Formats: sequence, structure tokens, C-alpha cells
Amino acid sequence: MKQILWFRRDLRASDNAILANGKDEVLPIFIFDTNILATLPANDKRVSFIYKSILNLKKELQNIGLDLVIFFGVPKDIFIQLQNDFDEVLCSCDFDSYAISRDKEIEQIIPMRRFYDSYLVHPDETLKLDGTPYKVFTPFYKNLQIIWESVHIKEYSPNQNLKLVNYDYATYPTLEQLGFTQTLQPHFLKKSPLELIENLKEKLEDYKEDRDFFYKDGTSNLSVFLRFGIISPKQIFNLIRNFDGADFFIRELFWREFYNTILYHFPKSEFENFNQKNILWENDEKKFQAWCDGKTGVPIIDASMQHLNSTGTMPNRLRMVVASFLCKNLLCDWRLGERYFALKLLDYDTSSNVGSWQWGASTGADSVPYFRVFNPYLQSAKFDKEAIFIKSVLKEFQNTPPKELHKENKNAIVNTKISSKQAIALFKNCSD
Ligand SMILES: Cc1cc2nc3c(=O)[nH]c(=O)nc-3n(C[C@H](O)[C@H](O)[C@H](O)COP(=O)(O)OP(=O)(O)OC[C@H]3O[C@@H](n4cnc5c(N)ncnc54)[C@H](O)[C@@H]3O)c2cc1C
Repeated sequence: MKQILWFRRDLRASDNAILANGKDEVLPIFIFDTNILATLPANDKRVSFIYKSILNLKKELQNIGLDLVIFFGVPKDIFIQLQNDFDEVLCSCDFDSYAISRDKEIEQIIPMRRFYDSYLVHPDETLKLDGTPYKVFTPFYKNLQIIWESVHIKEYSPNQNLKLVNYDYATYPTLEQLGFTQTLQPHFLKKSPLELIENLKEKLEDYKEDRDFFYKDGTSNLSVFLRFGIISPKQIFNLIRNFDGADFFIRELFWREFYNTILYHFPKSEFENFNQKNILWENDEKKFQAWCDGKTGVPIIDASMQHLNSTGTMPNRLRMVVASFLCKNLLCDWRLGERYFALKLLDYDTSSNVGSWQWGASTGADSVPYFRVFNPYLQSAKFDKEAIFIKSVLKEFQNTPPKELHKENKNAIVNTKISSKQAIALFKNCSD
């Protein structure tokens, strides 16, 4: 038996299903997919990070007697080139629309076996008693009691008897040959996921409270590592399960599971309103651009968006606030914001991003009711009282008293009170 082990959302050697299920002779590969890379700017922060992670994976595999071939091209062409020498491809599941259509093509060329190790549970195992999927988070989460009450979930171990197929493992493209440049990474990406988990253990007791105070760094910063599978959710679960405060953190991990389940069972929700409501968005281009550039005149919105543009990150509460502002105050379609986040977020993940945007726009599964609109000034007054975060990004406000930054102001492109009333009226009148 000769197998290709195709690493995709699982860039790790531990708790990895394809390394556990591989047999006999294997060719571990990663593909820098030109279909994806061609759409990205040369300074895309994610590509730098993935490149570094691929080289780490190569080292991890070498440590267990294996190696990694790094391809640069169109996956279909690469598998056409390899098909005659191999029996099958093993890989992890991927449910976004591009991945589904890419895999359909590959399956025509060579048999594929997919494994589900990027999440804690398979969406087919989370159904209600009547066999239909949950559409609301809390019952979904409670239904998985057996898992979240476990002390340890079994992890995969690599098959020790794998032999490497002869291949040129030494030659691989540089980042520059891929058409990309090194970019500055946020400080937490310089740490390993295990170091971040050690830090998290110290933060866990206060996690529930601190996670909303975005200037405090009260969260795990693990989302980028989870996105690319540098650590698995099972490993995180097992490492922190027994610490005080772990339950609330684990609940957050289940939001990731929930949105993945929604995308799996309702693939159209990547592009359509989940609740089928027909909303007449205004989609004013200038307002949308001001939001993207962080030039709306609302300090917390501008600080959040400028921070996203320069770092590729944004804490969860700020994501909720800017999403509500775009959809409910500027009346722009959530899909515009979702696409913009897809360009910028280091942890961009289709299911979590689409699910969260639809939640914020009140069009999604378990959505906020349409009449709930975040007031950005109240949010900053509550969660950034001294304007520490705002001032760290918007240097022009260094000497402005914090209270001034948490007040409706005439320079803003929209009055939040008036616009939120208009949004509530619009949502109330929209048809199903
Ligand atoms: C509009 C919007 C868009 C978002 N887009 C993404 C995205 O593209 N990719 C992404 O990973 N997360 C997304 N999130 C969820 C959340 O903001 C991030 O997961 C979180 O900020 C990452 O920081 P952390 O790892 O320190 O989180 P922690 O608070 O430490 O949480 C631990 C892990 O739980 C998961 N998680 C936490 N909150 C959520 C949530 N609300 N939904 C889904 N998973 C969650 C993440 O995997 C996270 O790494 C989005 C949220 C909003 C409101």
C-alpha cells in the first residue's frame, strides 16, 4: 500500500489522524495552492505564518523518521502527476465551498479518505433525537454533555511503522518564490501553542470576566493555531480540562464546533441569510469604505478596524461591536463585512466567521434578536473605560479625556441612536 498523506488543516505531527491511519509506505505532502495564493496580496500575513508552520511541521515529521514534500501549484495537476504511483490520499475534512469543490475534482483522479480531527465532534454525531441538526447553541452544547464532562479525550498516535517513499524532500520553494514577503507577526504568534496554553492556565480563573476587556489580553490567542491545526482542539481540551475556570473556556471551543456543524448541515449559509429573511440593505459604498479604513469618526470602531488592518487580529467583543455597527448602523450587508474579515483576519475560518457575522446581523442560527443593537459608545465606556485600547491605536487622542471618546460626536458618519432606530424598523418590516 502506498499512500499520500496530504496535510491541510492539520499542520501537526501529534494527535493527527492521517499519521495514525497511514500504512506501509507514505508520501507526506503540503500544497501551496496557487488557486488560493493568486487571490492574496504579497504581504498577506497568513502566508508568512503558514510558511513558517510548514517548515516546523517538516522538522516535527523528521523527528519521527518522516519528512514533508512541499509543492507549489494547482492541487489537481499535482495529483495527476502522482496518481500512478499511489493507491490513495489520506487527509483531514474541510467543509468550506472551495475545499468541497477542490476535493470533488481530486476524487476523480485518485481515491481519497478523509478524517475528522480538526474538531471535537463530527456534525453527524450532534443531531437532535429527531435526526435534525440543532440550530441554537445552548441545547447543542448541552447535548454534548458526555464530551464536555470528560476528563480526557483519546488522541491519535502516529503509526510507528510508516516508511517514507523515495522522493526529493530537500528541494522546496522559498517564501519569495511563492510570491510573498515576510511580514510582521503579532507577538503571540512567536510563541508555540504549548506556551500559550501555559499562559492560559494562569488566566483561566478570570477568563470569563477578562475576555471582554480587550486591552487585558485575557484570552488564549489560540485561534490562529486552531485554524491551521497546529494544535488540535482535543489537545487543548485535555491540557486544560482540570483547571479552575476551564468550563467557560471549553464552552467557547464549542462555539467553534457549533458554527462548523451549521456550515456542514447548511452549506448555503456561507452565502445566504440562514433565517431566509430578505433585508433591504443600503450598502452605501462610502460608508462601507470608511468602516474598512477605520475612518467612521466613532473611536472604538476606528481603533478596532485600524488595529485589524495593521495586525490581522481583533478581540471577540470588538468583532461583535464592529459587525453590529456595519450591519445595524451603516445598514451594510453582513456578507461585505464577512468578506473583508476574510481578507484581513489571521484566524479567518469560514464557519466561525460566517456564523458570527450572521449572528451579529440577526440573520443567523441562534441570532441576536433584530432589535438588539450594540451601542459602540456604551461598549467602549464599559469595556475600555480609560480608553487604553482606543489610545493605543488612535494616537491623535492621546490627550483627550476618555469620557469624550465614549460620547456620541458630530464628526461620526452616523448618529448611532437615530440609525439603530432605523435599523430596527427596517428589520421589523423585512419579509421572511
Ligand atoms: C464577527 C465575528 C467574526 C469572527 N470570525 C472568526 C474567524 O474567522 N475565525 C475564528 O477562529 N473565530 C472567529 N470569531 C470568533 C472569535 O472572535 C475568535 O475565535 C476569538 O476572538 C479568537 O481569540 P482567542 O483564540 O484568544 O479566543 P478565546 O477566547 O481564547 O477562545 C478559545 C477558542 O474558542 C473558539 N471561539 C471563541 N469564541 C468563539 C466564537 N464566538 N465563535 C467561534 N469560535 C469561538 C476559538 O477557536 C478560540 O480560539 C469571530 C467572531 C465574530 C463576532
